[in-house]
Amino acid sequence: MKSDIRVCGEWRSEHDRPVYTLDSDCPDCGAAAVNTAPAPFDPDDPYGKYRRALNGRDRE
Ligand SMILES: [Zn+2]
Repeated sequence: MKSDIRVCGEWRSEHDRPVYTLDSDCPDCGAAAVNTAPAPFDPDDPYGKYRRALNGRDRE
């Protein structure tokens, strides 16, 4: 199951602690909220496609 909970992308500079929300923006400072799921790879990772290929499956 995919989590829809997001966290303020600027909380480190705007808040004392992570601000969670279900919206796409932070309710406190209005900054873009980002998904809380840990990112195992960078979308811009040039080697990501090779690593996914090695996994034997491509979910995209
Ligand atoms: Zn915020």
